Amino acid sequence: MTKLIFEKSKQGRRGCLLPEVGVSEIDPDSIIDSSLINEEELMLPEVSELDIARHYTELGNKNHCIEKGFYPLGSCTMKYNPKVNESLSTLLRFKGLHPYLPISFTQGALELMYELQNFLADITGMDKVSLQPAAGSHGEFAGMLIVKEYFKNKGENRTKVIVPDSAHGTNPASAKMCGFEIIEVKSNEKGQVDIEKLKELINEDIAAIMLTNPNTLGIFEENITEISKIMHDNGSLLYYDGANLNAIMGIARPGDMGFDIVHINTHKTLSTPHGGGGPGAGPIGVKKKLEDYLPVPTVDFNGENFYLKYEHPKTIGKVRSFYGNFGVLLRAYAYILSMGKEGVRQVSMDAVLNANYLKEKLKGTYLLPYDYSCMHEFVLSGDKQKEQGVNTLCIAKRMMDYNVHPPTVYFPLIVHEALMIEPTETESKEVLDEFIEIMLKIAKEIEEKPEEVLKAPTKTPVGKIDEVLAAKKPNTAYKK
Ligand SMILES: *Cc1c(COP(=O)(O)O)cnc(C)c1O
Repeated sequence: MTKLIFEKSKQGRRGCLLPEVGVSEIDPDSIIDSSLINEEELMLPEVSELDIARHYTELGNKNHCIEKGFYPLGSCTMKYNPKVNESLSTLLRFKGLHPYLPISFTQGALELMYELQNFLADITGMDKVSLQPAAGSHGEFAGMLIVKEYFKNKGENRTKVIVPDSAHGTNPASAKMCGFEIIEVKSNEKGQVDIEKLKELINEDIAAIMLTNPNTLGIFEENITEISKIMHDNGSLLYYDGANLNAIMGIARPGDMGFDIVHINTHKTLSTPHGGGGPGAGPIGVKKKLEDYLPVPTVDFNGENFYLKYEHPKTIGKVRSFYGNFGVLLRAYAYILSMGKEGVRQVSMDAVLNANYLKEKLKGTYLLPYDYSCMHEFVLSGDKQKEQGVNTLCIAKRMMDYNVHPPTVYFPLIVHEALMIEPTETESKEVLDEFIEIMLKIAKEIEEKPEEVLKAPTKTPVGKIDEVLAAKKPNTAYKK
């Protein structure tokens, strides 16, 4: 068992020794209100530098990461992020920049942001991009604020947003936070928006529809141009959840499909390691008619200088301090430049190929409720295995014993016992084949010795935990 850092503490041990400061000591009471001064000894671990290095290396090794093994977490695009983008983002001349520096000192950084805005507009088929939002869901929130302002300016009181039953949970959440009522539209037997059902929901209260295409089943909405026509004929807007951009870059563009607003998850598609809770970036792009509503500042060029533009007449305001998560945006910029136009397109082609390869190899053993050619991901059902006494959660735990991060489970909600698998383009055929073998082996284990699978995970620092208790009282949920 790993010891706590406090258990490793030895009184008087030090990681580093600081030189005498050379100024005389003053009485803290003379400068700080005495009620604010802590009289008690601080409970700090006393350890050497090597103790600390070992401690955190040991903790780090307990985590799964893309450098340790396959990570097919659906909807999350856990691709390998080239280390060169990391190095670039930590160049002193970038990381040493202060946000309050005058723009005459920051022309390079501003040019980079300006170009990135244009690259993203080009990839998504939008007219103007703001790099401000700090995450995908934050981009959604900003996008929905734009929808709200747009109709307010037009003097229309539209109160509802349509969201399909396959949507990512953040979509209805973002719309709701902006005060919209959520109207759900059902999927049809092909896993796509049911056009007839959509038509029934249309009326003058509908402000927008939030969609991702391909949708969360990994299926491309074939009727997207018809959906777009239905919405626009009704005066409504179309919002594109761009978290799934890895499937379509350089091949299809949300703007061409008819979408008016897009967010991009740069930390999924464009090379920023994620999974530890951030930081990320969720730039949003809009069509010309919504340009004035974008959050400020955007970066512009006046023919001579790059500058921060705050003059957007109808802006929703600021959604984040300063200019967005610059380090993350820098990685996206480096990634796009290093891949080039053809490379970015190849990413999507390979991501789709890899997903279809896995889907075809696994669909005989696991149920595939929506059996169509997929985009960057696909969703299996563990229903067959559940009948044999092992549910999807247990399958996921068993994968951990084979050094595979489990796929996303129980999402999207329209698939029973869902296993949502997204291999990404960065994996080789050998890794995919190994994963197929593991999945087939687990299915066989479930038939022959389900009790073994139910015990999983057996090779992780803690075994199966009570997930509700773990969330509420993390220190009591697991007893060895
Ligand atoms: C990840 C994801 C989001 C949310 O993005 P965050 O950066 O985690 O806020 C939204 N929609 C879809 C489909 C996603 O996969």
